[in-house]
Amino acid sequence: MELKEYWSDRYHSRDFKLTRVGVVAIRFRWLVTLLIIGIAGWIPMDWLVLDSAHFNLLWKTRLITGAMLTPLLPLSYLCKLNRRWMVASIYYLVGVMLAFNWVALWSFQGEAVPVGYLAFPYFLLGLLGVLPLQLQSSIKLALTISLLVLASDYWLDHGSLTNGVLVDRVWLLLSFGLAMVWVQCGQLRMLLDLYRESSRDPLTRLMNRRLFVRQLEQVRYQSKDERPYSLLLLDLDRFKRINDDFGHLMGDEVLVTVANTILDILGQDAMVARYGGEEFMVLLPDTSLSQALRQAETLRLAVESQPVVSPLDDREVNVTISVGVVEGNKDSQVQALLRQADEALYAAKSRGRNCVMPERLAA
Ligand code: GH3
Ligand code: MG
Ligand code: MG
Repeated sequence: MELKEYWSDRYHSRDFKLTRVGVVAIRFRWLVTLLIIGIAGWIPMDWLVLDSAHFNLLWKTRLITGAMLTPLLPLSYLCKLNRRWMVASIYYLVGVMLAFNWVALWSFQGEAVPVGYLAFPYFLLGLLGVLPLQLQSSIKLALTISLLVLASDYWLDHGSLTNGVLVDRVWLLLSFGLAMVWVQCGQLRMLLDLYRESSRDPLTRLMNRRLFVRQLEQVRYQSKDERPYSLLLLDLDRFKRINDDFGHLMGDEVLVTVANTILDILGQDAMVARYGGEEFMVLLPDTSLSQALRQAETLRLAVESQPVVSPLDDREVNVTISVGVVEGNKDSQVQALLRQADEALYAAKSRGRNCVMPERLAA
């Protein structure tokens, strides 16, 4: 995982962004539930240890805080769909929790403050570590909490924070803030690793069938009426013979080489997947059938003209592909499209292999 992938979600795929926001939303919901239960559940403890003046103020504040957090529970289901709402909800949670803490600290002004209330902001920083945020958002959150805590301390002490106490607070906030950032990045890394393992083919590193079908659904959903997209289904010809004659290692080498050729020839806009054993599927957004047929032909020629060298000895093998091409639009059914691409590929095989065959979609 590269540093830029930790830094911002600009470098993540749309599908991973959605996955991450979904995970953040679920964890956020648990966090809010825990806080609501914790805040209200602590009332008996306050009753045991606090005098009646403090208790009378704080039990009401606790209930109001719980009530203010409650709307976040239904909202977290909507946040899953929108990153901005998610961010706003997290800051709202932080604001409400720090306001609660501020009221508590204010009520103890000039007296000994129970340690739970003093430790509250650090406890909050620790809890927020469960959210898999990117470094940029994580640092912003840690700084916002630290500045709010310092400002409220300064205000409560009427600006008379001594240098020693101030340095102590800054140091504590920095340590806990850094720990939160570190844990959040660790969560992000774990999530990205798991996502990649479950969505990539380990041999070619292309996306797998599951992710491809999800991407296809998205492209179909977003495609405008007048802008079609196309699918290529590629199958290596007589691949079993390569395995039988040269061994499976050579077979694997052929698969990797063809995968790289597809990526080189079709460029960055193409979404390429290993669809099955020796089958690849390509989605070309904003591409008509005639454009896709031309690209498929270029690809076929490129594969044909590039012999693969065995990783064990110098033997070379020539590889060819058969390609089925189909055009889709907003109204196409994904399963129907995949079936049509398969039929086109079958037609290419029946025609003698090493050729490209179209299939016009009837939605
Ligand atoms: P056709 O031209 O009709 O497609 O013939 P074919 O031999 O390519 O097709 P067939 O479906 O008979 O054989 C596919 C072979 O692909 C069988 C299987 O052993 C091989 N295969 C599938 N996955 C892998 C893999 O990951 N590595 C290797 N080396 N071989 C694989
Ligand atoms: Mg084959
Ligand atoms: Mg096959």
